[in-house]
Amino acid sequence: MTRPAAFLDRDGTIVVDPGYLRDPATVALIPGAAEALIKLRQAGFVVVVVTNQSGIARGILDWDDYHAVAAEIDRRLAKEGAGIDATFVCPHHPAVTGPCECRKPGLAHYTAAAARFDLDLTRSVWVGDRLTDLEPARPFGGRGILVETGDGRQHRDAAQEAGFPVVADLGAAVALALEP
Ligand SMILES: [Mg+2]
Ligand SMILES: [Zn+2]
Repeated sequence: MTRPAAFLDRDGTIVVDPGYLRDPATVALIPGAAEALIKLRQAGFVVVVVTNQSGIARGILDWDDYHAVAAEIDRRLAKEGAGIDATFVCPHHPAVTGPCECRKPGLAHYTAAAARFDLDLTRSVWVGDRLTDLEPARPFGGRGILVETGDGRQHRDAAQEAGFPVVADLGAAVALALEP
């Protein structure tokens, strides 16, 4: 059966973004994030994290750092009964590694997720703290919601001009997405 996905940004949306998060000891969940993920799964959404990690291209962090942070995020979420179904990472940066199709707002990761999970993208939702997290909603006919955590306040005006709703945080975004 075809299911919708929630495509969630990681840094500034699920966890506090210190900039190039590489130390698992500094991982901090944004309040309400775990509960929001639980609600998404209960409502039948596949929870997919899509994250740009240009720090890897830039040599600021390596894959071991990335995986250590990801494991810590998983551990924190699991403690609250929440989980992520899949994570798609872009490790590139155009200035360092050249153009790629997986760096948001590129569409490659969403197309791959749709094939892997048999997703209905028109019923899917894109949530993040930057406009580039939401823009892919448009070509796929889905819904984008900006959160004001992380860099969200800097992107608020542009998101509103582009017609995307702006809410306080991931908890509020999920509440809006699940409204009948
Ligand atoms: Mg972000
Ligand atoms: Zn990429």
